[in-house]
Amino acid sequence: MPSKKDSEDLKDVQSNNVSLNPTVSELLDVVSIGMVILSSEAVVVYANPHARNLFGINKNLIGSMFEDLFLIEPLIDVKKLFKTIVSGGSFQKQQMLRIKLDEDVSIWGIVSLSSLKTFSSEEVVLCQIKNISELKEFEETITRQSHLLLELINSLPNNIFIKDKEGKFLLANVWVSRLMGVENPQELLGKTDFDFHPKKLAHKYYQDEQEVINTGKAKINIIEQVVDSHNNRTWYSTSKLPLKNNHGEIVGIMGIGRDITKWVKEQKTLRKAKYMAERADQLKSAFLANLSHEIRTPLNGILGFSQFLKQSLPQKDKNHKYIDFILSNGKHLLHLISDIIDISKIDSGQLNIYKKNFVLNELMSQLEYSYKEIIKQKDLNNIQLFLETPLNDKKSTIFSDDLRIKQILTNLLNNALKFTQGGTIHFGYRLEGKFIRFFVKDTGIGILPDNIKSIFKRFHQVDSSLTRKYEGTGLGLSISKGLVELLGGTIGVMSEVNKGSEFYFIIPYKKVKLTTKESPVPSEKSLSDKHLIVVHDNNQSYDLLEIILFQNNVEVMRARNQNSFFELILSHPKKIDLILLNIYAQWFDGCASIQKIKSIDVRVPILLIVDAADDTKIEECMAAGANDYIVEPINHDLLIAKIKKLIQ
Ligand code: ADP
Repeated sequence: MPSKKDSEDLKDVQSNNVSLNPTVSELLDVVSIGMVILSSEAVVVYANPHARNLFGINKNLIGSMFEDLFLIEPLIDVKKLFKTIVSGGSFQKQQMLRIKLDEDVSIWGIVSLSSLKTFSSEEVVLCQIKNISELKEFEETITRQSHLLLELINSLPNNIFIKDKEGKFLLANVWVSRLMGVENPQELLGKTDFDFHPKKLAHKYYQDEQEVINTGKAKINIIEQVVDSHNNRTWYSTSKLPLKNNHGEIVGIMGIGRDITKWVKEQKTLRKAKYMAERADQLKSAFLANLSHEIRTPLNGILGFSQFLKQSLPQKDKNHKYIDFILSNGKHLLHLISDIIDISKIDSGQLNIYKKNFVLNELMSQLEYSYKEIIKQKDLNNIQLFLETPLNDKKSTIFSDDLRIKQILTNLLNNALKFTQGGTIHFGYRLEGKFIRFFVKDTGIGILPDNIKSIFKRFHQVDSSLTRKYEGTGLGLSISKGLVELLGGTIGVMSEVNKGSEFYFIIPYKKVKLTTKESPVPSEKSLSDKHLIVVHDNNQSYDLLEIILFQNNVEVMRARNQNSFFELILSHPKKIDLILLNIYAQWFDGCASIQKIKSIDVRVPILLIVDAADDTKIEECMAAGANDYIVEPINHDLLIAKIKKLIQ
């Protein structure tokens, strides 16, 4: 602002060409807007202090032309314009013009022109000038920023939009407009989803948005189906958030959506692949189960009759050797089939664990007995076997899967025997807090540290050459690992080459109290005059069972179909002491038959004959009332022991 003195001086110099009413003149001096009076010829005759200050005090305004003050289009005829104004004609009263400050410097201003009569009744033009350069700069900044923002939201590969409370678009980026088949996002403004999408989809979006508006809670990553302008089905993961004004009131929603069509399609393919894999897996398992049954059945016959033949031969008969050969090869084949089936079941998560109460010491003694027999039979006189069972029988009664524990220990003991030329094999268990640690420790060939890492991987053998010294498939340890894990434990090994190895596994120790009924006291009771019903479809297997049972003076009745079976139970003059039931008999329908038997005679024990200890059918049958089961090929002694135990 010029000082009062400056203003006075300027007024003297610059207002002498026009005679103004003194009051008007004083008024013009104080107003904070630039006032310039021009003659009808567009020559400046007066400029108030504000105007002089605006143009700079060095600029001599009086006598300047209108076009010296402002940048105007060359096409405008200023003189004609002024004539129109002074004669009261029509013209645009207010205009935005650039004010020339210097040769190269100009600022924005709003300029109004109006006619005025001087004190001496001269027609002149009053030009009011308002400096809006700051406002204009601000506007330019806003425009620049909006432009940047638009650039940004258009370059992001996401649908970005803002809608008002009624669902009308207030803003949308190019991705939204492209999806809707509209060239320019501006065309969406004021429209709603109902103008572009199928009604059902638009309604769904609208409902979601109304929920956000009504609750004030954002919806994050909701999966939306969208039909694009080409009628393609696409999928978006969209987040919708409430849009608030300065007072915190919800006035609409902001949304951002990411195209996830590719991901959804991949998921679909994956699901399909998973389904196919599961299906293939089921088929594979069914095939393996069938195969196992088909191979086991004749093998059971071979082994059973060989066992029987062996028992019936005189001690010194040379044929013993050949029968032993059949027996050992048959067992080897059976072992191999079991291993392959076990590994495939572990792989597909279909191997089940059946836990029950049992006396661990008894299981360990059975193993000790079997392996001492094997050592004797194979003339391995330079190997000594020792068993450690630190708990008494009562404390060694645990809740776990006895058959699986036996299987793991058998694998480890087989290896210990296989890889120990001479020395000792210690096996047993120790209690370690809430865990029980089983071990098999040998003084055999040992394992190199490098090989230890991969020893539990399937098919891994330290010596994998075709001419290797030791037999085996490389499956035993990986099956053992799988089984230990299913039992909730871990397996490991410590070994030193040429000194020996100690394999161990640790499982939870779940001690249980045995009731007298559960206490498995081996019975010496004779089976004479006991009456058994045997259900077995396979003639060979049935014949073998019959022979074993006859040897023990048991009266055996065969049931060939459901009718004869129930007839035998219902009408046989003698009490039925036990039912030996092969669960794969054609007509046997599992639970229903067992329940029916129990409804006729609840006390009759049912001993199941099964192919493998983990068959899911066993669980069903046991739950329905069966008492125990035995796995084929049947160990003659075990069968008799089980029958005795159940009949007792
Ligand atoms: P295999 O049927 O070959 O014995 P395993 O999985 O049981 O299969 O064992 C894998 C390999 O681990 C064996 O081939 C052998 O090289 C090594 N191994 C296992 N147990 C012992 C042991 N007690 N002493 C030395 N090496 C062993």
